[in-house]
Amino acid sequence: MGAYRGFNTTAIHAGQEPDPLTGAVIPPIYQTSTFVQDGINVLRGGHEYSRGSNPTRAGFEAQLAALEGGVAGFAFASGIAAEDALLRALLAPGDHIVLGADGYGGTNRLINRLHGKWGVGNTPVPITDAAAVRSAVVPGKTALLWLETPSNPLLGIADVRAWARIAHDAGALLVVDNTFASPYLQRPLQLGADLVVHSTTKYIGGHSDVLGGAVVASGGAWRGEALAEAIGFQQFAGGAVAGPQDAYLAARGLKTLGLRMERHGANALELARWLRERPGVAEVLYPGLEEHPGHALAAEQMDGFGGIVSLRFGHERAARAFAESTRLFALSVSLGGVESLACYCSEMTHASVKDTPLAVPTDLVRLSVGVEDVRDLRADLEQALAVVVRLPQPARV
Ligand code: PLP
Repeated sequence: MGAYRGFNTTAIHAGQEPDPLTGAVIPPIYQTSTFVQDGINVLRGGHEYSRGSNPTRAGFEAQLAALEGGVAGFAFASGIAAEDALLRALLAPGDHIVLGADGYGGTNRLINRLHGKWGVGNTPVPITDAAAVRSAVVPGKTALLWLETPSNPLLGIADVRAWARIAHDAGALLVVDNTFASPYLQRPLQLGADLVVHSTTKYIGGHSDVLGGAVVASGGAWRGEALAEAIGFQQFAGGAVAGPQDAYLAARGLKTLGLRMERHGANALELARWLRERPGVAEVLYPGLEEHPGHALAAEQMDGFGGIVSLRFGHERAARAFAESTRLFALSVSLGGVESLACYCSEMTHASVKDTPLAVPTDLVRLSVGVEDVRDLRADLEQALAVVVRLPQPARV
């Protein structure tokens, strides 16, 4: 095989070579905690104990690192566990984070309520305002800039290259949460980020049947240590690793990521275009629509626009009624699986930032558009919109 391998070839083969012992095309799930040693510390294949390394997990980590263009991947028990490990590996009390304000509520909770307690400060910033990002940097203290793009659930698009410049000018690192785009649509390390985090629970797993997270490191260093070394040590010492069954499911999902993302994106674009013409819908947030403020940037830094569409209804009652009326779109937190989901984020995924400046609008419903037949999805949204338009109109003020 030549040196260049395309995305899907890499997704299917990197870290996923047939088992050399038996020829099994799919490498076995190494359901073991420990590995026999041929002498004291004489290890076969480098594996000693599954918290340190496990072949199933290692295969998935290599597969994901290859797709993100990083030097090493690290798989964790959840996306939040991956984020926590990254923060613990790189930060010390007194450090400061510039935090994209528009992002997953649980990330905000982790940084504020767990890491805040240990003396790590943060300043939330609008992700599309480079001047605000730059002025939030605290010289000598800002260690990380943390960005989610596209953001959850407002689908803001930030300029990753600009954030990377600001981070590096300040002597800090840029972390990008690439959960929404997945490496099929966006490779932040190529755009200048130092680290990528994922909730692999979402598009990478792809079937809503596994919880997981990952960090992918570039070849950079931090405070004299290679990033990959620092994250690897934290993974081993902190221990929030992905188990072999979960790593297997994530690796299996990742093989079809490209196929799924194509279909998610096609369905989402078709529904977004249709929804913006529907009575009852005040606004459709989807970076694939020409009127989206981040459309040109997304078209330039991404290879597609993804499968998440958020809708605004102008008032809370309509949004709640819509979210409770869809049927094929199951009312649920999470996203990125083959099945469609609808989420009323202000009370569900983002309840932890309710009543704060970072609160999600109460008239918003997030749709995770699955890979079902689009006409069935449209029919489901149509019957839910019929419920919305039948609601008594709110009093005008
Ligand atoms: N990052 C984003 C963008 C998310 O949407 C989520 C979960 O919803 C997470 C991180 C956290 O991942 P997990 O739920 O796997 O811990």
